[in-house]
Amino acid sequence: MSSAEDISFETLPHSNLTSPEKRAELMANPAFGRIATDHMVMIRYKDGEGWHDAKVMPRGPLTLDPSAAVLHYAQEIFEGMKAFRTEDNGIAIFRPDANARRFRSSAERMAMPELPESLFIRAVDELVKADRDWVPSGENASLYIRPFMFANDAFLGVKPASEYLFLVIAAPVGAYFSSGAVTVWVSETYTRAAPGGTGAAKCGGNYAASLLAQAEAKAQGCDQVVFLDAVEHRYIEEMGGMNIFFVFDDGSISTPGLTGTILPGITRDSILTIAREKGMTVREEAYSIDQWLADAKSGRLTETFACGTAAAVSPIGAVRTKSGGEVKISGGTGPGPVTSALRESLIGTQRGRVADTYNWVHRVC
Ligand SMILES: *Cc1c(COP(=O)(O)O)cnc(C)c1O
Repeated sequence: MSSAEDISFETLPHSNLTSPEKRAELMANPAFGRIATDHMVMIRYKDGEGWHDAKVMPRGPLTLDPSAAVLHYAQEIFEGMKAFRTEDNGIAIFRPDANARRFRSSAERMAMPELPESLFIRAVDELVKADRDWVPSGENASLYIRPFMFANDAFLGVKPASEYLFLVIAAPVGAYFSSGAVTVWVSETYTRAAPGGTGAAKCGGNYAASLLAQAEAKAQGCDQVVFLDAVEHRYIEEMGGMNIFFVFDDGSISTPGLTGTILPGITRDSILTIAREKGMTVREEAYSIDQWLADAKSGRLTETFACGTAAAVSPIGAVRTKSGGEVKISGGTGPGPVTSALRESLIGTQRGRVADTYNWVHRVC
């Protein structure tokens, strides 16, 4: 087996690049994740051979055998990250090393081969360079990058596959949520993750299991679902696919600790780091739904927000439960001052307006 560091990427010819006019038209109104760029990166894995056959190629459909393991047993993991246009018209990616690390730990949990972190970052860099014209400029715009890996064995037995495909695709995106504060529904019917399960892995199956809960939230007139823990049905875990933060009137903030059922968000980690640097008191601890409602009513809780790569930081203006009705958080309008300050520090760092103290910004070109 050759070492992953030795792999070189072969660039396949592209005979049908999107014209600059068509690209400009598509990028004028990108929504989220609908637009396909021109390229994709693909690397193959096979037991005994390791990682091989790395390519930058025209983006297009895949051909799978109908017994491909992923279609039956859902051995699949993914990542989500963003590339930004910098003030000097270069391109930077935010903390790709953290995504590479998390991808490895997701792979481990799903009994998949671990892609070396350096190869993950090279693959992402290759795609961004090939699709550099697709990285939008503009305050809320970015290129959303989606690395993923799945089991590609043509075999119906239940066991870890021996063949995998790793791919990277991308899509130019605008703002994820339209604007303002979201109203959330606390699901007492469905849970997202149980102790010993896959909640800390970024795998497609977790999302399949969450869709009905999200539909329940919508049916209740809410924007997003908030999950409670699977054991006691008391403690707040996450909002849909985002981590959640609470801000208190003494200036402290808290977020649920990483106990194995919470996805270790890179935005979460960045917010914690930024808040500590600002001298704020930060707690990673369990917080119950009853306490949340009581604190919102008493005014002890002043703000709540969710965070993740897609939407960055999103204020939560109201929380609704089956038994407790709707409780507004500080009047229910837009982001509060702490949410805004943390958001500006995060986005400012990504955009190069705020000093990159922790070397989070990875220059591609
Ligand atoms: C991806 C994800 C997050 C956010 O992680 P980031 O690295 O900040 O984008 C939070 N919760 C779930 C369930 C996720 O899949």
